[in-house]
Amino acid sequence: MIYFFVQGSAKKPYRVTFEGAGASLRSFCTCPAFSRGGYFCKHVSALLVGDVTNLTGGDENLKILQPRSEGSPLLSDALLHQPAASKRHPSSINTLDAALIHIARRSKDKNFVLMSIDPDDYDKNRGGISIHKIGKHGKPLKQPIASFCYSEARLETHFVMATDGELREVTTAVPRARNWVVLRGNHASSFSSCGAAVAALDEWFENI
Ligand SMILES: [Zn+2]
Repeated sequence: MIYFFVQGSAKKPYRVTFEGAGASLRSFCTCPAFSRGGYFCKHVSALLVGDVTNLTGGDENLKILQPRSEGSPLLSDALLHQPAASKRHPSSINTLDAALIHIARRSKDKNFVLMSIDPDDYDKNRGGISIHKIGKHGKPLKQPIASFCYSEARLETHFVMATDGELREVTTAVPRARNWVVLRGNHASSFSSCGAAVAALDEWFENI
């Protein structure tokens, strides 16, 4: 169990706890809204998206919560509770945050779950989300059915002749010409604008 204290409208901070991980992550909060709804409130939501504005205790637990929330329907709900963006037309969505909120809404409609795509050694500004079906045992399938990500580099493999005459495989990072990368099934395409990439993924959502 991991816990946090969040300052709300009451004098005493609310205590927010999380139990389990992934699809079976559960949340609890001592605020009145949580006891009415039974599973979710704005304090739970804020912690899931890493909003520390009113956090008064348990900061060190955020990095434990983050991997545990991967593939959790609560994370999709939290993204949906972020203000604005979710109802905009896909081509007018022009930031990664807005795109992720939009994709979270569409994924929830289809009962898909999301996992985050994080920065990598070769691409420090990478960020996005992969979309997964839920398998028989209620856990997300490892292989994504689609993904959406901002990326500045891609890995390229080629062969070079070493001094001993052997061919060696060398992988290098090369800059991307188009930074918005969408994977649909096993087909990857890249786009120069966020809006165009969201529109492409939206079309895929329509047809799946
Ligand atoms: Zn609460």
